Amino acid sequence: MSALAKNYNRKKISFKKGKGSYLYSTNGKKYLDFIQGIAVNSLGHANPNLIKAINKQSKKVWHVSNAFIIPEGEKLAKKLTQKTFADAVIFQNSGTEATEAAIKVARRYFYSIGKPNKNRIICIKNSFHGRTIAAINASGSKKMTEGFGPKVPGFDHFEFGNHQKMKKLIKKNTAAIMVETVMGEGGIKVIPNWCIKELRKLCNKKGILLILDEVQCGIGRSGKFFAFEGAKVKPDIVPIAKGIGGGFPIGAVLMTNKVAKAMIPGTHGSTFGGNPLAMSVGNAVLDQIFKKGFLKNVKKLSSYFHIELNKIQKQFPQIIQEVRGVGYLIGIKLLFNQTKFIQQLMDNKLLTIRASENVIRILPPLNVKKSEIDLALRIIKKVCYTYKI
Ligand SMILES: *Cc1c(COP(=O)(O)O)cnc(C)c1O
Repeated sequence: MSALAKNYNRKKISFKKGKGSYLYSTNGKKYLDFIQGIAVNSLGHANPNLIKAINKQSKKVWHVSNAFIIPEGEKLAKKLTQKTFADAVIFQNSGTEATEAAIKVARRYFYSIGKPNKNRIICIKNSFHGRTIAAINASGSKKMTEGFGPKVPGFDHFEFGNHQKMKKLIKKNTAAIMVETVMGEGGIKVIPNWCIKELRKLCNKKGILLILDEVQCGIGRSGKFFAFEGAKVKPDIVPIAKGIGGGFPIGAVLMTNKVAKAMIPGTHGSTFGGNPLAMSVGNAVLDQIFKKGFLKNVKKLSSYFHIELNKIQKQFPQIIQEVRGVGYLIGIKLLFNQTKFIQQLMDNKLLTIRASENVIRILPPLNVKKSEIDLALRIIKKVCYTYKI
C-alpha cells in the first residue's frame, strides 16, 4: 500500500536508470522515453555535462539566501537576457510559480504607474498555467478548479481561436493577455505566428501587457529558443520552467526593463529560487542549447519527424486525425480515446503521454538521435497496424 495520496493515477512501472533517450525499468526492460518527464529533460537522462556541473557545484555550495549575490544566478540571468527579448529575470522553482510571478509582475507594473485598477488578466479557457490557486483560475478549467473555491477573481476567458470574444474582453481594467504560445496540456494547439503578431499589435493599441507562457514550449523545444520567435515579436513577460533545468527544478520569469522596474525590493521572492546548485545546472543546460548548430539540428530532425508522422497519418486516416505541434512538441490527435494506444506504444517500449482532445504527446529530448526517431516511427506504425479498420 502506497503512503502517497491518490492524486495521480500512476502506471505500475518504475525506472532504475536512464541514459539519453532511454529509460531502464526495475523489471529489466528498456524504453524509448519520449516523455522525458514532460518536456523537462531537455538533454535526455544522465547527460554527462549536467552530471559534471551538478557534481562540481555540489562540492562548493548548494544553497544560500537571495539576501546575497549568487554569481551562478547572475550568470544564468545574463545568458537569458543576452539571448532573448528579456532585460531582467526572477528565478523560481517551477512553472506554476513562474506563471504566478508573471501575473504579479503585470499587476505590479500597472500599480507602479498609478493604475492599480488595471489588474485583470485575459486567458484562454482550458489552457494550462500550473496548479496553484491563481494558476488554476487563470486556466479556468472546470476539472482543475472544481472543489477549490472560492474562485479567484481577476481572470477573464475566451475559447481558443475566438478572437471576437477576446477583443470584447479587453476593458479599462485589463492588465494583460496571458497565453501559452503552444498549448501543451490542452492538446498541442499552436497559436500561429500571424496571430501572435496581431496579439502584440492589439496589446500595444490597448496599452496592455503580453504574457507568453513558454514553460512547456520554450527552451529550444520548438526549434527556436522561444516558440514565439517565429512571430518576430517582443512579449513583455515570459514565464519559463520545465526544460531550463534539464531535470532539476528551475522556474523563472523573464521580462522587459519597462515592467521589471516595478519589481522593487520586497515585491517578490523565493527561498529556494535561484540557488547555486539549480543555477549551475541551468547554466550547463543553456551552454549546450546555445551551442552553434544545436537548435538548427532540432529544427532539421524535428521537421523530418513531422514529415514521417504525417505520412503515417495519411496511411491511417481512420486512426489519426492530424499531427500537431512544432519542433519536438508533437501531438498525434486520434479519432478516438488515446489511452489504449498509449498503452500499446508502451507495450512496444515507447513512452508517450496524453494531452487533451485525444492527443498523444511526443516529447523527445532535444538531442535525440535520428535512429531513435526512426525507432519511434516504426513502433507507432506497428501499433497503427494492430487496429483493424
Ligand atoms: C507544466 C506547465 C506549467 C506548470 O509547471 P509546473 O512546474 O508543473 O508548476 C505552466 N504552464 C505551462 C504551459 C506548462 O506546460
